[in-house]
Amino acid sequence: MAMGRSLVLNASYEPIGVVSGRRALILALAEKVDVLAESGDVWASSALRVAVPSVVRLRYYVKVPYKRTAPLSRRAVFARDSGRCQYCGRSAESIDHVIPRSKGGAHTWDNVVACCRRCNTYKGDRLLKDCSLQLRSRPEAPAQYVWVKVAAGTVPDAWTPYLGQMAA
Ligand SMILES: [Zn+2]
Repeated sequence: MAMGRSLVLNASYEPIGVVSGRRALILALAEKVDVLAESGDVWASSALRVAVPSVVRLRYYVKVPYKRTAPLSRRAVFARDSGRCQYCGRSAESIDHVIPRSKGGAHTWDNVVACCRRCNTYKGDRLLKDCSLQLRSRPEAPAQYVWVKVAAGTVPDAWTPYLGQMAA
């Protein structure tokens, strides 16, 4: 059976990871976590029927040595920009360097946006001031928990209360 993914919260309710539904189930059965929300899926064997968790919280606090941030990748940029071209709002198929790399533009969060093929082709190697495109919003490093979205693909409704201001 295909199982979705589960959000893991620290004892402090801070999101610290995304794991397979199967892994979350194992943690729950081992009583290492409390289940805060169920996914609606049921895992069944001959002896057992168990609801697959969607959100679990560790019973003990884990010291997280670093702040998780999403590395700059195509997938992460798409997650931040909700898959929309940042010039025209259509569905994005590629990423664009706002200041082209050939003109010294950096491969950094504030210079990379999701972009549709049409705008990408039209813009080519030009600066914004040399073509008629405008950014719909200023690109910046993504909200704190965008890595959750990157790891999970889509964010189930049950997770949003634990993700602060991150747009779903
Ligand atoms: Zn576009």
